Amino acid sequence: MKILVVEDEAKTGDYLKQGLVEAGFVVDLMRDGRDGLHCALTESHDVIVLDVMLPGMSGWEVLRGIRAAGRDVPVLFLTARDAVDDRVHGLELGADDYLVKPFAFSELLARVRTLLRRGSRRTETEILRAADLELDPLRRRASRAGRRIDLTAKEFALLELLLRRRGEVLPRSLIASQVWDMNFDSDTNVIEVAVRRLRAKIDDGFEPKLIRTVRGMGYVLEAGGGD
Ligand code: CA
Repeated sequence: MKILVVEDEAKTGDYLKQGLVEAGFVVDLMRDGRDGLHCALTESHDVIVLDVMLPGMSGWEVLRGIRAAGRDVPVLFLTARDAVDDRVHGLELGADDYLVKPFAFSELLARVRTLLRRGSRRTETEILRAADLELDPLRRRASRAGRRIDLTAKEFALLELLLRRRGEVLPRSLIASQVWDMNFDSDTNVIEVAVRRLRAKIDDGFEPKLIRTVRGMGYVLEAGGGD
């Protein structure tokens, strides 16, 4: 799952990004309001964490821009301790929740998870399947033939993407933008290596093989046998 963080304060931004990546999310970090809005409208995110005081364009303008474009992505905004009016204002503008700075990272993570559950009822109960492979996006569990498979955060995100778009050949550029962040250099062989590792975990010792390389095009997950 992918999160956009818009925060100009360098330390806070880096800290949020690192913590969210460690928790298994893909994170786009923008340090300016204008870049934040652009990123929100051109990429797709499951949650947006938005600071209010930003250079370029305020958090409120960013939020207004997101809602004006018809995007209903959950937004959690970050506000200063003494700015009580902000809380009302933000919620009126269509934000879903807020946190008062400074906050503990565990608190932010809990709020983000609540928004993810609330935002996509689909995700809550949904188990993604192909043949005897199962993946539970919210509980972050994967298994094949009933056997638990341990995946890294990137492997998990990659498998989730392949399962959600099963049967479709996914080009490396698309995988890069969905599983890595937007600054990722897709010319490296990082994706190949990640796919190889993922395949070793979910296909070695099992039939049918699920992940297939389409030479010169990308990767596809197929259950085969008409399934
Ligand atoms: Ca700020």
